[in-house]
Amino acid sequence: MRLMGVIAFVVMLLTFGSALGAGGLEGDGSRGGYWYILDVALLLGMGVCLWALWRVRRAVRRVERERDLTIDSLMTRHNELEATLSSMVEAVLAVDGHQRIISLNAAAARLLDVQPSEVISQNIRDVIKNDQLRAFIAGTLRVGEAVQAELDLSKNGSGKEATEKNNYVVQGAVLSDATGGRIGSLIVLHDVTRLRQLETVRRDFVSNASHEIKTPVTAIKAAAETMKESGDDPEAVDQFLPMILRQADRLSAIVEDLLTLARLEREEPGETLEVARESIAEILRVAVETCQTNADEREMTIEIECDAGIEADLNAALIEQALVNLLNNAVKYSDAGKTIRISAEKRGNWLVLAVTDEGHGIMSEHLPRIFERFYRTDKARSREMGGTGLGLAIVKHIANVHGGRVSVDSKVGEGSTFRMYVPAG
Ligand code: ADP
Repeated sequence: MRLMGVIAFVVMLLTFGSALGAGGLEGDGSRGGYWYILDVALLLGMGVCLWALWRVRRAVRRVERERDLTIDSLMTRHNELEATLSSMVEAVLAVDGHQRIISLNAAAARLLDVQPSEVISQNIRDVIKNDQLRAFIAGTLRVGEAVQAELDLSKNGSGKEATEKNNYVVQGAVLSDATGGRIGSLIVLHDVTRLRQLETVRRDFVSNASHEIKTPVTAIKAAAETMKESGDDPEAVDQFLPMILRQADRLSAIVEDLLTLARLEREEPGETLEVARESIAEILRVAVETCQTNADEREMTIEIECDAGIEADLNAALIEQALVNLLNNAVKYSDAGKTIRISAEKRGNWLVLAVTDEGHGIMSEHLPRIFERFYRTDKARSREMGGTGLGLAIVKHIANVHGGRVSVDSKVGEGSTFRMYVPAG
């Protein structure tokens, strides 16, 4: 464009020059002066035109630049919005007034088990198979104001039957355009399954704990009342006093374990937990020493397998307590005279602590729940052995607060191996 301007200017000069020359050759002074003024006027006019053209061009360039900037900024905002929506844990779905899908994010596509590109503009009737959700969206569009409900979306959009409950808090809001006109509804689905599960676990825990505490308290009360009614009868005292003491011990063990669990729940791996560089062989030795009397009473042998040099950063008192729980279980749930092995080894980044027994073993259906609080395979036997039903839950929590985990392998009639994995650092 700039080149065109220069060419036009040169052509103009040439035209002016030739016009001037032609005027001079005519020989008439007044005629030459007339052409001269005309040429100057022409030249000025063309100059003004060029200047105006240049200004227009500059303005167009500015508008183009501003338009490009606006498009860039709109694209950036659009991409940011897309990124925000797709990284949201919540499923987001926009639906127009005719129940057609305007847009949905990745979480919504996953939840409904659809490809976003395939369902845009489709009616929710053909996309969402869950009756409750469809009815909720239709209701949101009808009432035209913000609504909220909790739905079980176990049967998801694809119509597949989910094995577990999937609780979602679903919120519907009015979707408006730039002028404020209603164009549909925005549906946000928040997965609260885990929250509800935790609430159930907590409720069950309170109920189990109350029940566990109530049993010895009732037994103590009954024994004390009988003793009171029998006056100073030494026979009754001999019979009921040991019972009261046994039940009081049980109560104290339950309360002690509950307090341990409560303390462990407050610990955060790598934050509040106090750790120090410890000799693992020494921790194993102390744990075995603590359980030796129980094992001796049942003529059981405890073998230790651990290299003397193994060290790790951990809380020795807690790891010791976990191993004592596992060893005591091995003693409790094995026949007299059997052998128990306790071992420690480093495997990659993990320190693996294992307790293996030749005991009764655990049926496979119990294994997934065996580390739950108050879960027992045989309640009567556990109580008879003085168990609280909290020993393995404590072991699991101790592994967890170290940033580790637990596992169990067991075969009925052959025995069990309980393992704790804690970071070997
Ligand atoms: P408890 O106080 O009842 O022993 P735990 O939490 O320590 O509670 O163990 C939970 C249940 O797991 C026990 O009641 C028992 O049924 C089973 N269990 C634990 N350890 C063993 C084991 N080594 N062999 C067989 N069963 C076991």
